[in-house]
Amino acid sequence: MDKDKRTEIGTLGEFGLIDKISENVQLKHASSLKGIGDDAAVLAPTDLLRVVTTDMLLEGVHFDLSYTPLKHLGFKAVAVNVSDVAAMNAVPTQVTISLGLSNRFSLEAVEELYEGINLAAIHYNLDLVGGDTTASRSGLIIGVTAIGEARKEEISYRSGAKVNDIICATGDLGGAFMGLQVLEREKQVFLSDHKMQPQLEKYSYITGRQLRPDARMDIIHEFRDLHLVPTSMMDISDGLASELFHISRASGVGVAIYEDKLPIDKQTYDTALEFNMDPITCVLNGGEDYELLFTIDQKDFGLLEKHPDIHFIGHVTAQKDGKVLITKSGAAVPLNAQGWQHF
Ligand code: ADP
Ligand code: MG
Repeated sequence: MDKDKRTEIGTLGEFGLIDKISENVQLKHASSLKGIGDDAAVLAPTDLLRVVTTDMLLEGVHFDLSYTPLKHLGFKAVAVNVSDVAAMNAVPTQVTISLGLSNRFSLEAVEELYEGINLAAIHYNLDLVGGDTTASRSGLIIGVTAIGEARKEEISYRSGAKVNDIICATGDLGGAFMGLQVLEREKQVFLSDHKMQPQLEKYSYITGRQLRPDARMDIIHEFRDLHLVPTSMMDISDGLASELFHISRASGVGVAIYEDKLPIDKQTYDTALEFNMDPITCVLNGGEDYELLFTIDQKDFGLLEKHPDIHFIGHVTAQKDGKVLITKSGAAVPLNAQGWQHF
C-alpha cells in the first residue's frame, strides 16, 4: 500500500466505505446465512448454545495511536472479544464491528484497521457479519460484538469452582503490562526530543504482548480434544488477582496461590526490575494478558499434567480461608485485587 496516499472518507460516502469493507469478507460458517449488506445479519439456528459478548475500545482510554499500528489494533479488537468467548469454553463463529471515526481517518487508515480485523477473522475462523459506521468527535472508537457456540455441558461459568479444585493459568503473566510501561516511556522520550528514536528491540516480546495479544482458542480446542471441561474459567484481562476475586465471589470459595508457581517471562521479570517494580505485583495486577484462568477437578489433573503452557498455580479452598498468596518463604498473605485501571 502507498503509505502517503490519503483518500478522505467523505469522498466515498458511508456506502462506499461499507462496500470497501465487505470486499474482503468471505463467510465461512454455514450458520451465517446473510452477512454485511442488509438491515441485519441472519444466522441459522444450530443445536448448540450461543454465547454473546461485546467490548469497546476507545482511543485515549484503551489504546494510543502514537505507538499502536492500526493493523494490530484491528486484530486486538477482535482478539479481546474472542478471549471472552474462549473464557466461556465456547468457539467463536461471528463478529460485528462498530466504528466511530473522526475526520483524521482516511480510507487507507480504515483499510489498515480492517486488514487486522480480517486476519483475526481467518485466525479464529469467524465471520464478520455486520457493524455500524458513524462519525466521532472524540477519536477512534471500536466496538466489537462476538457470538460463539458450545454444547450445554461444555460451558464454563465463573461460578463452578469447588473446594480442592486445581487453579490453572495459561501462558505467562504481566508481560502486556510491562510492554505498556516500555511503550509509554519511549513515547515520552520521543516527545521530549524528536531525534531520539525509540529503543524497542530488547523489549519485543513484551511490547508484542501489549500490541498483538492472541486469545487462547488453542487451549479451548485442546479441552475439546481431551473431553475436559474446566469447573470454572475466566480470561485474564484485568490482572490475575482481580480475576481470582471474581471466581472466588461467583463460586463462594477461597483461593490459595503459590508465588513460586506464578508464570512470568524473563523479559517481563527483567523489565519490572528495570522500572523498580515488583515482578510479582506485575503478574498479579498487570492487565491485558488475555490468558485463561481456570479450575479443574483433581481427577482431570493427569490430562493436563504435561502440558507445556498450562501452569498449576494453586488450589481452591473454603470461603472462610479467604484469598491468599503463599510466598516463597511459606507465609500466607491476603491477596488484594487492585484490578487494572485505565484511568
Ligand atoms: P443501517 O443504516 O440500517 O444501520 P448501515 O448502512 O449502517 O445500515 O449498514 C449497512 C450494512 O453494512 C449492514 O449490513 C451493516 O451491518 C454493515 N456495516 C456497516 N458498518 C460496518 C462496519 N464498520 N463493519 C462491517 N459492517 C458494517
Ligand atoms: Mg448503521
